[in-house]
Amino acid sequence: MGGPEIERLIGLLARLPGLGPRSARRAALRLLQQPEARMLPLAVALADAARAVKPCGLCGNLDSTDPCTICADSHRDRGLICVVEGVGDLWALERANVHRGLYHVLGGTLSALAGMRPEDLNVAPLLARVREGAVQEVILALSATVDGATTAHWLTDKLKPLGVTVSRVGQGVPMGGALDLLDDGTLAAALRARRSF
Ligand SMILES: [Zn+2]
Repeated sequence: MGGPEIERLIGLLARLPGLGPRSARRAALRLLQQPEARMLPLAVALADAARAVKPCGLCGNLDSTDPCTICADSHRDRGLICVVEGVGDLWALERANVHRGLYHVLGGTLSALAGMRPEDLNVAPLLARVREGAVQEVILALSATVDGATTAHWLTDKLKPLGVTVSRVGQGVPMGGALDLLDDGTLAAALRARRSF
C-alpha cells in the first residue's frame, strides 16, 4: 500500500474507539481523497482542541473554559451534584437533558482488578465541594457493576457524615450497563427512579 505517512495515519485512526483497522483504512482513504475539504479542517480542529480543551478544575468536565460552561451556568441547581465515572457519562446525561444540577467526574470506579484505589479517584475535590455547604443532594450515577456498587457504598460512607442526601440512580440501568451507552429515555427514567440511602 502507500507510504509511511499513510500507514501512520491508519495506525493512529485504528486506535480510536469504534474504529478497527478496516474502518480506519476507509476513514484514512476518505480524508486523503479530499485533503482540502476534509483532512486539513480536521487537522486544524484537532490542534485547536488539543490546545484549548482542559479538565474543569471544579468538576472534571472537559471544556475550553475553566470553570467549565456547566459549572459557570448560574441557572444550574447548585444544590444538586451528579457523580459520574467519566466525561462520556456527563455528556450522555447532558444530551438527554435530564439533570439540571452540577456534575462531578470521578475518573473511574474502585476496582481491585484494574488496580483503582481510593487515591486514584477524584474524590477529595468532591468532598470539598460538599463541605462548602451549598450542596443538598449527591446523586451517584455509576455503572450497574460490582465495582460501581462498591464505589457507591464507599462514597456514601464518605458523604453521609457531611450531612447531604446521597441517592443512587436505580431501575433502568441494566446490570453491567455503562451510562453512556443508554438511550436518552432510559437515562431519564433511571435518574427519576433514584433512591436515597
Ligand atoms: Zn465544571
